[in-house]
Amino acid sequence: MKQAVILGGGTAGTMMANHLNKKLDEKSWQLTVVDETNNHYYQPGFLFLPFGKYSEKDVMKKREKFLPKTIAYILAKIEKISPEKNEVYLSGGKVLTYDLLIIATGNDIAPELVKGIDNGWRENIFDFYTFDGAVSLRNKLKTFKGGKMVVHMTEMPIKCPVAPIEFALLADEFFHKQGIRDQVEIEYVTPLPKAFPKPSFAEKVHELYEQKNIRLVTGFALAEIDGTNNQMVGKDGSRLDYDLLVTVPPNKGSEVIARSGMGNARNYVAADPHTLQAKNYDNIFVVGDASDIPTSKAGSTAHFSAEILAENIEHWVNGKPMTAAFDGHANCYIESGFNKALLIDFNYDHDPMPGTFPLPKVGPFKLMEETTINHLGKMAFKQIYWRMLLKGIPMPTVPPNMKQSGKQMPDLQEK
Ligand SMILES: Cc1cc2nc3c(=O)[nH]c(=O)nc-3n(C[C@H](O)[C@H](O)[C@H](O)COP(=O)(O)OP(=O)(O)OC[C@H]3O[C@@H](n4cnc5c(N)ncnc54)[C@H](O)[C@@H]3O)c2cc1C
Repeated sequence: MKQAVILGGGTAGTMMANHLNKKLDEKSWQLTVVDETNNHYYQPGFLFLPFGKYSEKDVMKKREKFLPKTIAYILAKIEKISPEKNEVYLSGGKVLTYDLLIIATGNDIAPELVKGIDNGWRENIFDFYTFDGAVSLRNKLKTFKGGKMVVHMTEMPIKCPVAPIEFALLADEFFHKQGIRDQVEIEYVTPLPKAFPKPSFAEKVHELYEQKNIRLVTGFALAEIDGTNNQMVGKDGSRLDYDLLVTVPPNKGSEVIARSGMGNARNYVAADPHTLQAKNYDNIFVVGDASDIPTSKAGSTAHFSAEILAENIEHWVNGKPMTAAFDGHANCYIESGFNKALLIDFNYDHDPMPGTFPLPKVGPFKLMEETTINHLGKMAFKQIYWRMLLKGIPMPTVPPNMKQSGKQMPDLQEK
């Protein structure tokens, strides 16, 4: 029996398990998933937890419910991978041998990389990128009566780079509804030259922030946090005050990647951007946030690329060329408050652009525009995630690679 092992049972790992369970011949292949916890988090919901829009049970479910019953599911910490020996070492001493390895160990915040962050952490400095962080921020917001809230991201790449932008917009709505918006100053601080890495969409964010009186500070490279004076200190010595700091610390891939000597400085594994095959190992593929491919680290990217990867692995196990090529497709709803949202859809070659999605002219979603239908799409996504995407059920009319139809492509006639 040949062994296919998936490391990590989060968004990408669970999708791959469901795809491969259908694609691999069960008489010849044993499929195994390893994760260290049995809690699966719907991370996009972490945005809504601090504002009381979602509760714990909206965002956390038992992982085993979403994995195929017929595969082996091991609850253990992955200690190390030996790509030379085709072995994976687990906590408790178990060793797995593989013929095919899929790395889907994701990434996480690394607050320990920020000097001074401990002085105020979870008192007046919070993250919302973890379940615990989002829950403790919710408790803080219940008692926050006014002052300066800074929403900050430290560096790229982070997962879902629109999430901190959305957080500032939802904070505007939240404080309005609390009746204290005039007592809260909201500031968005980024090291980037604009609010968002893709210039076409950054302009939209700038307009929204101006309308909603959210101050934008660009080009701020954080050196350390001075928690005694409630200030962020820039590398150029400049200082920014906060009363409440909501920060996205640097993100990095799982430590197992570093322990195995397989990653870059932030523990991301080098992979071919189109086939997701690890650059140095023919029988290893990397999917989701764990890889270094140059697109957004997002659940949508995990979902689209998992569909392509499953098709390629079906060819690969049969000794055929991998003909499917991922184009870097990412699709993000941006919740902007008061039941409105925007939507962007882009890939390696095309930045976000106006148009309709997923159907030309019909939509119903509008790209780069703030609409109520887009907001309904964002809210519907939770159920689509739990009921369809994790189980590997494709979304009708949304193929894995970006559709050009419906988009006002600068270099193409509308199709
Ligand atoms: C606040 C927030 C909002 C977001 N909003 C959106 C959004 O609106 N749209 C969107 O598309 N994406 C969004 N995302 C991003 C999206 O959630 C991630 O990109 C996606 O979950 C990545 O999937 P993954 O499988 O690569 O990683 P994960 O889902 O994080 O899974 C990685 C798994 O690997 C396991 N693992 C790691 N190391 C080990 C080890 N050593 N041993 C055992 N197990 C291990 C972990 O336990 C985990 O279960 C958001 C993320 C956040 C934090």
